[in-house]
Amino acid sequence: MHTVFSDGSVWPDIRVIEAWQEGLDALVISDHIEYLPHKSDMIINHNRPFEIAQPIAKNYGMILIRGAELTRSNPPGHLNAVFITDVTEMDTSDYTVALMKAKEQGGFIFMNHPFWKSPKYPVVNGKVDWFKEHEELYKLGLINGIEIVNDREYYKEGYRWAIEKNLVKMGNSDIHHPTNMYFDFSKDDHRAMTLVFAKEKTLESIKEALFENRTVVYYSDKLLGDEKFLREIFNKSITISKKFYKQSKGTKFFIQVENNSDVTYTLLTSGKVEGFNLPSEVILHKNRTIMMELTPQSKEMVGIFKVKLPFIVSNLLINHEDTLPVEFEIEVELE
Ligand SMILES: [Zn+2]
Repeated sequence: MHTVFSDGSVWPDIRVIEAWQEGLDALVISDHIEYLPHKSDMIINHNRPFEIAQPIAKNYGMILIRGAELTRSNPPGHLNAVFITDVTEMDTSDYTVALMKAKEQGGFIFMNHPFWKSPKYPVVNGKVDWFKEHEELYKLGLINGIEIVNDREYYKEGYRWAIEKNLVKMGNSDIHHPTNMYFDFSKDDHRAMTLVFAKEKTLESIKEALFENRTVVYYSDKLLGDEKFLREIFNKSITISKKFYKQSKGTKFFIQVENNSDVTYTLLTSGKVEGFNLPSEVILHKNRTIMMELTPQSKEMVGIFKVKLPFIVSNLLINHEDTLPVEFEIEVELE
């Protein structure tokens, strides 16, 4: 996120209050180090945004993480260093030295918007490449993560890199304006964010979780992350209260599926269920219970049937190509 201390248009404390209003627990202000369009109007001190915002964060119970955006032409492009202790040490001409300083301070470093369209970014074979400069930084342990989502943009190729190179998946707003001028909260719009699976609500715990690659990216109506996390989120979100149904033969019946989460899930049928017709698409609206219709294919079927309903959740992306497979199991007695 940016403030007036680089190319943003708000004072640092506003970032904290916005994040609090939008229900976040933690935030990073990461002003550009090198790009300072307001410098003739401001006394530039790279640590000031954090220092100004920190007392407000304490008041609001928010975890504010010190950060900065190294801003170079690609390669290496833009990289965020977060959990650092002194941004001024990164203000040096050699970008490798700057990132090493960040690492020495305990910083976690990630590539920002790697596919940002700009004439400054050389495009090779129609895409922005992983350059040898990136490989050098990566081998030095100076790239820990990558934005697979920036603002409203998702980078499929970035997701592939994240998996291939075991980079931590990040999704960030990169907001420059006041958030309420940019997002329409009355229409369920929200900023892109990184869900971090920290054991405790502390800065140290968030840092540990990031270095251990425990994140899911949330943007638009989608969650992107490792299958183990997405499955857990889905399973904790969904309840089928009734697992056994007793019906007259040939009659349709309804399975109540409750979604107690803030994410609407879209289920697409991924296989056939012998003996029963099920809908090809089921929308599990957030914080709602829906009725899923099931119809026996034959009026003559009688007996007890274990029915497994196979779906994929089309808005849960477990890698750059696949969505989460899930299965519901119920039992029905037709008599
Ligand atoms: Zn940037």
